[in-house]
Amino acid sequence: MSEPTLYHNLIGGEWVRSTTGQTFESTNPADTREIVGRFQRSGADDIAAAVQAAAHAYEAWRLTPAPKRGEILFKAAELLRQRKEQYARDMTREMGKVIAEARGDVQEAIDMLYFIAGEGRRLYGQTTPSEMPNKFQMSVRVPLGVCGLITPWNFPMAIPSWKILPALILGNTVVIKPAEDAPLSTYNFVQCLLDAGLPPGVVNIVTGYGPEAGEPLVRHPDVKVVSFTGSTAVGHHLTKVAAETLKHVSLEMGGKNGIIVMDDADLDLVVEGVLWGAFGTTGQRCTASSRLIAHRAVATELGRKLAAKADGITIGNGLDERVSMGPSINADQYKIVCDYVEIGKQEGAVVVAGGERLTTEGYSHGYFHQPTIFGDVKPSMQIAQEEIFGPVTAIIPVDSLDEAISVANGVKYGLSSSIYTRDVNQAFRAMRDLDSGIVYVNAPTIGAEIHLPFGGTKATGNGHREGGVQALDVFSEWKSLYIDFNGQLQRAQIDNAE
Ligand code: ADP
Repeated sequence: MSEPTLYHNLIGGEWVRSTTGQTFESTNPADTREIVGRFQRSGADDIAAAVQAAAHAYEAWRLTPAPKRGEILFKAAELLRQRKEQYARDMTREMGKVIAEARGDVQEAIDMLYFIAGEGRRLYGQTTPSEMPNKFQMSVRVPLGVCGLITPWNFPMAIPSWKILPALILGNTVVIKPAEDAPLSTYNFVQCLLDAGLPPGVVNIVTGYGPEAGEPLVRHPDVKVVSFTGSTAVGHHLTKVAAETLKHVSLEMGGKNGIIVMDDADLDLVVEGVLWGAFGTTGQRCTASSRLIAHRAVATELGRKLAAKADGITIGNGLDERVSMGPSINADQYKIVCDYVEIGKQEGAVVVAGGERLTTEGYSHGYFHQPTIFGDVKPSMQIAQEEIFGPVTAIIPVDSLDEAISVANGVKYGLSSSIYTRDVNQAFRAMRDLDSGIVYVNAPTIGAEIHLPFGGTKATGNGHREGGVQALDVFSEWKSLYIDFNGQLQRAQIDNAE
């Protein structure tokens, strides 16, 4: 086997080694004998150098007209389109999602490039009349400076694009610390920006482990914004760290997303949706459909139909087009999945489908587990409350829409939820009363599009949204401008008051 590629940090436009002199390996979770690449195991000194480079680049980048910044993104979109297949294959190798989904992940970054590039000619503010004569006023968005971005492995190109692009179009510069399990896709994405003409230092990449490389980024006094996607525990910790230096912090964290299935639902449509929502990306999406809150009249039949189809899911290496579900990302995550399946059994839930890890020939070098469906689950059980991040879902029988909504809302997270019904009244009640940032009707809890706000309530986030024009709010502040052309002092609230 040939020596794996060694990747360097990108600092100020140069590819450099970490000052620690250490590296780490990223392996293929479908076959851990394959090393996808070696990456710099960075520390605080590397972060400091990257922040300095980003601060230096900011001075010219913030003054580059936003439509010109957008032109670079349009060019990068064209390049990424050309490289889509190669980068999708890299992604499947580094984190295991099946190739069709990896193509979708790259496509999301392409969509984001076009969407945000167009924003370069908008970035709308407001003009508004003054209460005084001969006075003009308006508000404009202004960039903040260096943004620190920390990203997870499950959408290794899409999520970096959600953060990098709104930051850049506004005139900020960026230091990104990608997930240690899937850094390659960040390199591939940023390479398109560089090839499209992005100036040195505007985007910097520093790889490494969370506490060693991520946390110094959050602590650094010259970083003005932190945008984080990952676990609730780490996000909670980073909020406190960032408070020391009064940074803007945007957090995107866990989910325990429920699909409500009413007794009038089209069950075949539900089954298709559940298989996609629960087992797509091996259940490793923050929006994964990990609870099926089913009307008691249809819960058993739903379980039976799902079990029949779940058995047909082809598990394996996602580069094989016939495979529909890949492995868990790493040994720790795999253990978590296996542990939760045991917990579910001990809690008294019924295994409707799956329930076992796969260790036979062809699976022994990867982190493979059967798609698993529990039935007869009580809302209070651990498997119904805690995020598993694996191919496990739980059918929770209920007796009414009110109970279904109460169960759906009865978890600490609030990212995504869904209802299957043919009754428009029930659908509208659910849309109104489900406490989550995203609600789907007659579709599972996954499938967000990039031009709508993405994010959640409660322990899922801290009030910000990615995607849509709302993403701009994280990376900008408002400046209000008052232009008095009266020629004489005018005092607001005083000279014109009754
Ligand atoms: P996941 O379970 O999805 O891996 P994590 O929250 O552990 O979620 O990781 C998400 C991102 O946060 C990764 O890039 C990881 O390296 C980073 N990270 C983990 N711990 C810390 C930390 N203490 N400080 C900063 N970043 C961290």
